[in-house]
Amino acid sequence: VARVCVLRGGATERTFAMLKPDVAKDSATVNGIKAMIDGAGLTIEREERCRLSRRQCETFYAEHAERSFFPDLVRFMSSGPVIKLELSGSDAVKRWRTLLGPTNSAVAREKAPKSVRALFGTDQQRNAAHGSDGVESAKRELSLMFK
Ligand code: UDP
Repeated sequence: VARVCVLRGGATERTFAMLKPDVAKDSATVNGIKAMIDGAGLTIEREERCRLSRRQCETFYAEHAERSFFPDLVRFMSSGPVIKLELSGSDAVKRWRTLLGPTNSAVAREKAPKSVRALFGTDQQRNAAHGSDGVESAKRELSLMFK
C-alpha cells in the first residue's frame, strides 16, 4: 500500500462530501455528480440519504455561526433531503475540493466551468455540494455525520 501511495504521489485519505437540498432530490443530478466522483478516481465508501434538523445544521456549520448568512444557510440545509458520502482515494480532500470548484456557483462557472458547483449549483448559497476543507475537518465531519 505504501508503495502505491508513493507512486501516485498522494496519501490515501478520507473526506466528507454532502449533496445539498438544491440537488439531492434530483436523481439525474445525483447520478451526474457520482459519475464525476468516480471519474476523479474517488471511491464512495459510504452513502446515506437523510434530512438534517436545524440543530444538526447549526452544529455542522458552527464555525460560521456569527456570519450574516448563517440563519439562511441553516434554513436552506434543513429544507429537504441531503446525501452524505464518505469518499476515499489518494489526496481525497483536495481532489474533491478541486472537483467541487469555488464556493459561489456563479464564480465557479467563470473559473472552473467543469466543476460540480459550476454545472449543478445556483449561487453562493445553493451550490450543490459540500466538501471538507482539510484532513482534520474531514475527521470531524465524518464522525459528526456518520454516527
Ligand atoms: N454560504 C452562503 N453565503 C456566503 C458564503 C457561504 O450561503 O456568503 C454557504 C454556502 O452554501 C457554502 C457554506 O455556506 O458552501 C459554507 O461556506 P464556506 O465559506 O465554508 O464555503 P465552502 O467551504 O463550502 O466552499
